[in-house]
Amino acid sequence: MIRTRFAPSPTGMMHIGNLRTALYEYLIAKHYGGIFLLRIEDTDQNRYVQGAEDFIYQTLKTAGLTHDEGPDVGGNYGPYRQSERRHIYSQYAEQLVKNGGAYYCFCKKEDRDSTEDDEQLTFAKYDRKCYRLTKGEIESKIANGEEHCVRQLIPAGAATFDDVIYGSITVQNEEIEDQVLLKSDGMPTYNFANVVDDHLMGITHVLRGCEYLTSTPKYNLLYEAFGWQPPVYIHLPLILDASGRKFSKRDGSASFTNLLDMGFLPETIVNYVALLGWSPSDNREKFTLAELVGEFDERRISKSPSVFDINKLTWLSGEYWKAMDADEFYPYALPVLQDCVKAPGIDLKTVAEMVKTRISFLNDIPPLVSFIDNLPAYDKKMFEHKKMKTTLGNSLVSLTHVLEILQGMQDFSAQNIYNELLRLASTLGAKNGVVLWPVRTALSGQPTSPCGAAELCALLGKNETLRRVKMGINKLMN
Ligand code: GLU
Repeated sequence: MIRTRFAPSPTGMMHIGNLRTALYEYLIAKHYGGIFLLRIEDTDQNRYVQGAEDFIYQTLKTAGLTHDEGPDVGGNYGPYRQSERRHIYSQYAEQLVKNGGAYYCFCKKEDRDSTEDDEQLTFAKYDRKCYRLTKGEIESKIANGEEHCVRQLIPAGAATFDDVIYGSITVQNEEIEDQVLLKSDGMPTYNFANVVDDHLMGITHVLRGCEYLTSTPKYNLLYEAFGWQPPVYIHLPLILDASGRKFSKRDGSASFTNLLDMGFLPETIVNYVALLGWSPSDNREKFTLAELVGEFDERRISKSPSVFDINKLTWLSGEYWKAMDADEFYPYALPVLQDCVKAPGIDLKTVAEMVKTRISFLNDIPPLVSFIDNLPAYDKKMFEHKKMKTTLGNSLVSLTHVLEILQGMQDFSAQNIYNELLRLASTLGAKNGVVLWPVRTALSGQPTSPCGAAELCALLGKNETLRRVKMGINKLMN
């Protein structure tokens, strides 16, 4: 059975790159009917950021990526937390010392963790001074209570591993340092705990960013030293920003929380993030999480970097609103509409339907509907429309007739109004636009409105409609 894990270090906000890793781990597990785990890699207390674990938790929950296993916390599965498993790692470090795969090191300065950031720096390699200590020297140092760490003994030779995306990679072992496995405070290093846990938790597929490609040989040497079977590795391509630089944590749109704050729906973000490095076999771009589970194929993950394109995400956002049916959209739109439409008697559900197909964000709604409460000051030139064949003159004629017709109408429904307006056009021997356009202009005061002339009349109601038509007539007469 396929088992994957998302193994974040709680060091900050949930970056989009992390979300993509979590999502792909989840998709692979679910696609093959497997298990998805959450493991917080918090052994490096110096890098621990207060609240980061909460961000991870909230993000996964909001994104719908629930894990399937973990310690029981009040009837729910908590995450595995490495800081709570430290006794396990020391046992395994001792085991390696016993079988010759590791040794004690008493060199204080060298007792350092090899964290992601450290890897950017170049250290002089550890000179194996303590490996050359005699058995007696080691025993007496330990008996004296000297602080020590455990280092892995990197064997001679070369290590090769296969990555599903990047193919076969070989590294000369001499390039690899005898890495610290267990620090002098008894805490495992990040690399060590990661491998021990992946083994103990039966992880079959490890997915992570391609910046880990260079660390993987070290991990594999550990698997070899223990005689364990390494997992399948899937390293994910870089994510770049629009200018071709690495999409950075400093970029405002780089975290899930920021994108939510900008007004994107969680499902839109998840859908978009899935496409950052993976593509389906057809050109489809809109997927629910369940559809992604069905479609996801790890062999279709790309090797080349993907670009985080906020315009594309914005476009996708609009597609999500459009695809919702009226009842689904209404609860989202209602609070916004209640805030910006105060005129009495307005059917907000109708307004919601009008704007649904015209927005990328809920914040796009207020300017689209502001004309309902306040008819904007408009220039009478707006009545002239070449394509509609309207002039100031024929607009005045139309509106004068429209006023009379509307005044006499009992059934003020959009359909009825529409029929009457078309009848008027035909009586006047004019194109429909010659009647509809002036009404639309008089009622909305803007060159575009979220619905047609008859819908505007019905929405605003008879009194307000008549008032605005009269104002239009006055404007045209002056
Ligand atoms: N803790 C590592 C990180 O946050 C995970 C590396 C891995 O998935 O193996 O990037």
